[in-house]
Amino acid sequence: MTGHYDLVVIGAGIHGAGVAQAAAAAGNSVLVLEQTGIASATSCRSSKLIHGGLRYLESGQFNLVRESLRERAILLRVAPHLVRLVPFHIPIYRDTRRRPWKIRAGLSLYAVLDNLRDSAWFSTLPRSQWNELDGLATENLQAVFRYQDAQTDDAALTQAVMRSAQSLGAELIMPGEFLGAQRSAHGYAVRYGTAQGEQECIATTLVNAAGPWVNSVLARITPRLPPAEIELVQGAHIVLDGPLHRGVYYTEAEDGRAVFVMPWRSMTLVGTTETRFSGDPAQVRPLATEVDYLLRTFRRHFPQRDVQLRDQFAGLRVLPKGEGAAFGRPRETLFHTDTPELPYLVSIYGGKLTGYRATAEKVVTLLASTLSARTRRGDTRTLPLGP
Ligand SMILES: Cc1cc2nc3c(=O)[nH]c(=O)nc-3n(C[C@H](O)[C@H](O)[C@H](O)COP(=O)(O)OP(=O)(O)OC[C@H]3O[C@@H](n4cnc5c(N)ncnc54)[C@H](O)[C@@H]3O)c2cc1C
Repeated sequence: MTGHYDLVVIGAGIHGAGVAQAAAAAGNSVLVLEQTGIASATSCRSSKLIHGGLRYLESGQFNLVRESLRERAILLRVAPHLVRLVPFHIPIYRDTRRRPWKIRAGLSLYAVLDNLRDSAWFSTLPRSQWNELDGLATENLQAVFRYQDAQTDDAALTQAVMRSAQSLGAELIMPGEFLGAQRSAHGYAVRYGTAQGEQECIATTLVNAAGPWVNSVLARITPRLPPAEIELVQGAHIVLDGPLHRGVYYTEAEDGRAVFVMPWRSMTLVGTTETRFSGDPAQVRPLATEVDYLLRTFRRHFPQRDVQLRDQFAGLRVLPKGEGAAFGRPRETLFHTDTPELPYLVSIYGGKLTGYRATAEKVVTLLASTLSARTRRGDTRTLPLGP
């Protein structure tokens, strides 16, 4: 017998898991198809920050920052074992491009956008405490700002969201490779590959949450829709031996980009980079030039620390096509639908781990006019996400 679902979601990264949870919470029947593993792609290769994105203030993305800070507050509440506040430090040296007045203005605005919650405090660290900062270079250091943001385990968070979706009735087929879909009067006839061979089901609506594969999934759906013009931009991280005890450091690389130095599983995580990528998303790997750039940035800020490279990984951002450096490009999530007034298909482009819940709720709202009204089973703002 062919199954019939209100929603079939393609991809079990954070967005697919989030949409499955939000749609199941709204009472819909949901099937998730994942070709490899939960959080096996971008959602295990992020900087693992649940943050408002202080640097997005520089490019005027205030709505994104406000929404991200709101989502951070929700996640701190519903997932306290997975998302926790950590002190962040911004060292300002004589040659740092972002001057103290700019950082102070940015942190003040950040606090206002966070509704001046307890988590919004910031301060400058007295000079007497500079030597306690994990070996941070103090030569030519002029000021150190301290504020709070949050860290998570991105893969564990995604798995927790998927477990929540499943507890609300969502089904997951894995490995389940989406092969194609054909629009009919009542939605889409969906074909997918499993270990048992090719299967079919009917989906009233389809959500394409395939991350960097978004356009190759879209190309398998008929009638064909023109894809959004995007660019894949890879970001590399390195993992170094040795812990950090005082929190995260928000450093400035030689080209002015922000590079985070973060505690991670008793080691040190350093990232990230922005390098245009073309090719098969499954093959993304850090380049030697990216590893050198991150090592140089780390050594400049922590000259006395031993540097033993333990691991390295890279993930792909999906950004709207544009001129110039990716650093200043908008990071808002974009939705692409088949028929805007009554959508049966939504493709998710871009987005942040931090904002996955808000993104998922927007997708479910977009599809609400197409789907039949169901009895709600939960609210993603309050559903706990277990460890
Ligand atoms: C370097 C880097 C650092 C980042 N740091 C942060 C950060 O610190 N904080 C933050 O908030 N955000 C961060 N982000 C953004 C965040 O990581 C991403 O927005 C998010 O992980 C994207 O999730 P996704 O579900 O859209 O895609 P993915 O996690 O890539 O998931 C897509 C899934 O679709 C599956 N799939 C693809 N094709 C098919 C098919 N045909 N059939 C079945 N399944 C299929 C794939 O196997 C994959 O599991 C970062 C991103 C990058 C690249």
